[in-house]
Amino acid sequence: SLRLTDIRHAFGPREVLRGVTLEVGPGETICLLGPSGDGKTTLLRLVAGLEPLQHGRIELAGRVLAEPGREAPPEARKVGFVFQDYALFPHLTVGDNVAFGLRHFPRAERGRLVAEALDRVGLAGRVETWPHQLSGGQQQRVALARALAPKPQVLLLDEAFASLDTRLREQVRDDTLKVLEQAGIPALIVTHDAEEAMFMADRIALIRQGQVAQLGTPEELYLHPADPFVAGFLGEVN
Ligand code: ATP
Repeated sequence: SLRLTDIRHAFGPREVLRGVTLEVGPGETICLLGPSGDGKTTLLRLVAGLEPLQHGRIELAGRVLAEPGREAPPEARKVGFVFQDYALFPHLTVGDNVAFGLRHFPRAERGRLVAEALDRVGLAGRVETWPHQLSGGQQQRVALARALAPKPQVLLLDEAFASLDTRLREQVRDDTLKVLEQAGIPALIVTHDAEEAMFMADRIALIRQGQVAQLGTPEELYLHPADPFVAGFLGEVN
């Protein structure tokens, strides 16, 4: 499981995370839902090791990934991520895009891991294909394969479906859930789409101004919102 303890973070004088404690259980999917700018992306970046930890502790499967002043490098964390702005490389084939996530692995293992990852997302045999020859949804699945190929112990998704049109988004969302289920790894998913969170999450963590306003199953939050803010946020679901 992924365990976050009292995570605090400031950019200059601006505190964006103000004491987040959260545990993502084995195989569990937690959606971080909340208004834009309230610190969700920063939290994922801290877990991925893209931002130095200022306060608190991050543990994954019993290992300490980060404490202030003591950080595992990103490539040693076993954290897979798909970020919206982390698109495929257009000048690399699908296979090489996936292999990019394996550059710290022995060369001899890479081919097998690439094939395995592409198979998992339903794109077996597309190793030689170029990104522009794929649909948006297929490209997103390649990004997922790239994140999964090194066999991470947790997967982070940040607005990974936001750029897809509605129907495709539902399809890729569905595929992603299936892949996660098969892989059996925990996932932390950032979205500001309440419907997406209701659909994907085992539990939702509603984030407000850098804190967890409420944590619970979609049903719990929907039926027993802690306050009008939570109620208002989930009320947007049709
Ligand atoms: P969104 O969904 O829009 O990405 P978010 O909840 O993920 O929002 P963050 O991206 O974590 O929020 O940003 C939280 C706040 O921190 C924002 O006000 C943002 O402008 C600020 N911020 C993020 N990164 C930096 C940085 N490197 N330097 C200074 N401020 C930053």
